[in-house]
Amino acid sequence: MKLRKSSYTISVKIENERDKYMLIHGYTGAIDIVNFTVDKYLETGVDFSEDIVPFSKSTLDMLLNRGYLTTKDREEERQHVIKLASLLHKTKKIMHKSFVFMVAYDCNFRCPYCYESKVLKNSRQWSRRVFSKEMVDKAYNSIFMIEPEHRLRPNVILLYGGEPLLKDNKDIVEYIVNKGKDLGFRFTAVTNGYDLAEYEHLLSPECIFMLQVTLDGTEEMHNRRRIHHSGEKTFQKILDNISLALDRGVNISLRINTDGNNFYDLDGLYLLFKELGFFEKRGKFNPYSAKLFDYSQNEDVTDNSKGNRKLNYLNEREFNLLHKKEKYKYNCNLSDKAQMIKDSILKKKRLTFSPVYCSAQIGSYILDPFGEIYGCWNEIGVKDKVIGHYFDEEINWTDYKNHWHSQNIGTSFQCSICKYAFICHGGCISHNELRKGILEPGYCNDFSETIKNAVNLAYNYLKQERDN
Ligand code: SF4
Ligand code: SF4
Repeated sequence: MKLRKSSYTISVKIENERDKYMLIHGYTGAIDIVNFTVDKYLETGVDFSEDIVPFSKSTLDMLLNRGYLTTKDREEERQHVIKLASLLHKTKKIMHKSFVFMVAYDCNFRCPYCYESKVLKNSRQWSRRVFSKEMVDKAYNSIFMIEPEHRLRPNVILLYGGEPLLKDNKDIVEYIVNKGKDLGFRFTAVTNGYDLAEYEHLLSPECIFMLQVTLDGTEEMHNRRRIHHSGEKTFQKILDNISLALDRGVNISLRINTDGNNFYDLDGLYLLFKELGFFEKRGKFNPYSAKLFDYSQNEDVTDNSKGNRKLNYLNEREFNLLHKKEKYKYNCNLSDKAQMIKDSILKKKRLTFSPVYCSAQIGSYILDPFGEIYGCWNEIGVKDKVIGHYFDEEINWTDYKNHWHSQNIGTSFQCSICKYAFICHGGCISHNELRKGILEPGYCNDFSETIKNAVNLAYNYLKQERDN
């Protein structure tokens, strides 16, 4: 039997260990620790024969059974990946739908990096269009048309904007939530947190039970970037509102938009959260650092004439490096990957794979006040990105729906031959498309550095658990 090293074998040296390498297989999901001899033998990349291997028969069997060695040639492996991606994608499309109400094309903040810059591009003004009761009724009907089967329909709706929880939106949000509760839904929201106290009566584990709120650093830095249109400072009010929500048993996912200017504010923020007792409150508090993405691309927000708005975007590598230097004290995307690898090892289960990066590729339906449906958060309000229109009794889908629902790592040639594909997921399609305008076609996340760091972090997590 002629064997070759699988094109999807990932090998990472464990730092500070003399003779340990973690092998991960990119489509079987196997994870194993091997020694230098095995790793080096695999690294030679030549065709192998069963008779001449520098290790035992049981090691050879393990490498074969778990996919690191294979009898398949490159193209056969690629076809296997494409098939697996398509199968997993189909299953996900049936099982995982998500519904979002774009409550209002309006916001009380004027953040310099706003991801809605495409909608605001011409006028830099929001249209201020908000859901009417009539459109809310139609939106609920549409959910039942899109997924008539109760067991396949999620019972959570995300409230989104602009800013969904504006003081002025109170009546319509109450209508949405009360009607939704009668229909069996609960709610989450992505909010800037400024007017949250107005919604105190709706904040509970039974109603609006989870919020994503954003801070941009400690007080001074935050106030320079999360700017209220009236010029009011926003930091303290948001903190007070987070505290109120946590007291009411609402979970807070606290996003910290990180760039090169505010990275070192993370320490101060975490200390403040501890002082305020956020981690001990009724609701769960989960702060995390998220790399600030440049939605303006060619627009010049980095050299704004109001110098106080300067942003210092980091690339993936710089972002990861800063977190590594700080020994991953703060949660970030990489900690999630490391956690996934650690859990898999502890539970002795294969890695959980996904052929898609986000729900827009499987069944995310964002219903807006104009009767338009979008697939991706980043495309809301951009008319040629509409995936459907909803009416009283019917939905008309556009061809663009297929743009989202047909893409997975198997449909991109570069991802289908990439050993990281089922773990990287190919990256955010919308971000990749934006970057293609300024970078080479077929933007790649360059996942090798990420996996190297995630594997070592997972290994350290395991060591810590063992030592405690
Ligand atoms: S709070 Fe959100 S929607 Fe409002 S301006 Fe800032 S980034 Fe844009
Ligand atoms: S984006 Fe790059 S690293 Fe990620 S799966 Fe595709 S080719 Fe691989």
